[in-house]
Amino acid sequence: MANAVVKNGTYTQEQVDQIVLTAVVQATGRLNGQPVHVHRCPDGHPWFCTSPYCEDVNERPTLACENHGGRPTIQRGLEPWRGGQR
Ligand SMILES: [Zn+2]
Ligand SMILES: [Zn+2]
Repeated sequence: MANAVVKNGTYTQEQVDQIVLTAVVQATGRLNGQPVHVHRCPDGHPWFCTSPYCEDVNERPTLACENHGGRPTIQRGLEPWRGGQR
């Protein structure tokens, strides 16, 4: 596992968070205790998704994130067909 080298002033806090998050996900395969997979945004960056309803991720790896016009992914317990948020 490659360790990200972070020098003070080289990365923004947001980038550091992303690097740490990436390392955690790569090491554990999980995010917040949920199984996670990676989508690639047309904007060019990968993003992590914990939705259990993205089984076509291997067929369709490119998916816009919410910041770039994508739809929010469906999270466990918040399925719209179950009435969404309680
Ligand atoms: Zn997904
Ligand atoms: Zn994006």
